[in-house]
Amino acid sequence: MPEYDISEIERLIDGKLPWTRVQEIMKAAKDSDRFQKWVQILQSRVSWNEQILLPLTTNLFIVQQGDDRVVKCRCGQNFGDYRVNWKLNALIYVRDDAEKLNEVYRGREQPDSEWTQIREYYCPGCGSQLEVEGVPRGTPPDFEFLPDLDTFYREWLKKPLPNEVEFTDKTLDVVREWA
Ligand SMILES: [Zn+2]
Repeated sequence: MPEYDISEIERLIDGKLPWTRVQEIMKAAKDSDRFQKWVQILQSRVSWNEQILLPLTTNLFIVQQGDDRVVKCRCGQNFGDYRVNWKLNALIYVRDDAEKLNEVYRGREQPDSEWTQIREYYCPGCGSQLEVEGVPRGTPPDFEFLPDLDTFYREWLKKPLPNEVEFTDKTLDVVREWA
């Protein structure tokens, strides 16, 4: 296997390597190794020390915080248990009338505000826009990605995580507590 190092993968992520070299690396690297190097780079780019288990979006990561696995923003904002939809702890701006939809759909075909709304989710810590979803009115927030972390680490990376947890969507438990 050809040698390559962290700085080379970093340049790969940033799109600064020549294409031929990129192809070599993609072919040579074992997937799990590439995953771990990728996470290592992301870890070096955040200011906190909790271990990143899996990136969710460009701003959000599942991290190990003490005994808990929580969703954390790049800025350090904690969104709680990764099995609960993080959107419950985000700031939400809803575009639900023609005027507000017009601000983002200018010049394009605008959805009917009778039926559709656009929800924008922001981090309460840093104000970054985390997600945008266009959904029928009244539907609950979309839980895009609930990864089976234990299976992923155990079966795929061959590095089981300590303290395996139940793999289940806990979002409704929290909603019930609110009610
Ligand atoms: Zn943030």
